[in-house]
Amino acid sequence: MRPTNTQVRKGCQGEIIDDWTPAGYEKHFRSYDEGLMKTHDLRNKVEGLREAAARLEPDAAHREQSLGKVAAHAEEFLRSLPHQPVYAAPGDRDEVMQAFQVREVPAGIEEALDLLGAYVDGKGQTLGSSRFFAYIPSGGLYESALADYLAAVTNPFAGVGQAAPGAVRMEESLLHWLAGVVGYPETAEGDLTSGGSMAALSAVVAAREAAAINSSRVVRSVVYLTTHTHHTFRKALHIAGLGDCVVREVAVDSRHRMDPVALQQQIQNDLDDDLSPWFIAATAGTTNAGAVDPLDEIADVAQEFKLWFHVDAAYGGSFALCETGKQRLAGLERTDSLILDPHKGFFLPCGIGVVLVRDGRKLYDAYHARGAYMQDMSHDTERSPCDFSAELTRPFRALRFWLPFKIHGSRPFAAALEEKLLLARYFYEQVSLIPEIEVGSPPDLSIVTFRYLPRDGGADTFNRRLADAIRDDGRVFLTSTTMSGHYTIRMAILNFRTHIEDVDMALAVIREKIAELAA
Ligand SMILES: *Cc1c(COP(=O)(O)O)cnc(C)c1O
Repeated sequence: MRPTNTQVRKGCQGEIIDDWTPAGYEKHFRSYDEGLMKTHDLRNKVEGLREAAARLEPDAAHREQSLGKVAAHAEEFLRSLPHQPVYAAPGDRDEVMQAFQVREVPAGIEEALDLLGAYVDGKGQTLGSSRFFAYIPSGGLYESALADYLAAVTNPFAGVGQAAPGAVRMEESLLHWLAGVVGYPETAEGDLTSGGSMAALSAVVAAREAAAINSSRVVRSVVYLTTHTHHTFRKALHIAGLGDCVVREVAVDSRHRMDPVALQQQIQNDLDDDLSPWFIAATAGTTNAGAVDPLDEIADVAQEFKLWFHVDAAYGGSFALCETGKQRLAGLERTDSLILDPHKGFFLPCGIGVVLVRDGRKLYDAYHARGAYMQDMSHDTERSPCDFSAELTRPFRALRFWLPFKIHGSRPFAAALEEKLLLARYFYEQVSLIPEIEVGSPPDLSIVTFRYLPRDGGADTFNRRLADAIRDDGRVFLTSTTMSGHYTIRMAILNFRTHIEDVDMALAVIREKIAELAA
């Protein structure tokens, strides 16, 4: 009886073959020939499988063809972007899920691109649109898309210096440059993360380790933040096992900024109560209103009591690149850690955040780890991102950041950021001219809040209907928040594609919808 292929690694009795010499074959099979037959079958089977999998490595002609089609699809997306609505309903769920169903049989790239066109592009919110003013806008620089393509094709192992010294040194160079932009010293270290949430987690863990907050100390450790602190910061605390810390919401001033005097008093009270004040989480650019906490004054307090001073600059940090922004962010350089989202203020596509820690050793101490299978790089003298990150294997993120800056230089970025600050100022002035509109504070950065006050009351209901009407119209996309208990509409300006005519369009839509609703 011929052994079947499924028995290939086993002998007649199902025993594992550990000796592949002729003697070994004779031990496991009735004859050496029978064993060889199995090897022959194995070879045939392997050849068959290889053929079936061959299309996973398209040849040069196919690659060129696919790339051309992808480029054409991207081009069509970008060309139509200015004329597309910034918000569109998602379409029938069952139909879309059915279309995305993975099948055993191949489809051409055209079919795949058609599905993207039909069910992904332009559905929901279009972040790349110049008329996207919701949440914190992202951008999507074209050069970053090219970089992602190259990074995936070349696929360096960017977690370990020895494995991909070029990619890793590029990241190091970027972090070094950014540290300089925010005013951190040479000792600073950092990590390119997937976004602000992960960056905050890294900072919190570094601070936790530096203060040696073990489980018995958590409940006495105090964190200071405000009601405007981004929810992902509390989430980071929770994930880091610090959910039972004492969290103080420090009072804010009339412009929604942390009050340093209230902070100081709260810390003193906590010390008097035998608690351990540990961590101040300030924000440079709140998501609600773009407010920048008074970093310099908070730094004084942090210094006085020797607390870890962290700033969430996920949205606002990029403004340090332009002159006006630098002034607004004074004190940023005095923090112990900060986060910044290049996928916001540097206009990169989603998927990149930064954490910087002034004393880089503290980030290293929190994350450095090794496995036996890494012993071949035990003499590694290269810096390795995995020593500063929760990740080991990670994409070559530096390229999507570096390439647009290399190609354009940093000046156009500074100009675009300065432009956004002025556009926000312009919007603030113009929207406050609309009768019955109440505007929030003059913008520290590029977010303006406002609401309409109808003569017959019911402001929350009216503004909710106004925000819905603006969104359903599709020309511009704004979202809302709740400030001091009031439903408030926000205008966030951050896309590199957004210019004054887009802001004028928003003003026109707001006026139009108010007139329709008030009628
Ligand atoms: C966007 C944002 C975050 C969260 O960052 P993600 O990149 O979305 O994870 C945190 N804080 C602020 C102030 C933000 O604007």
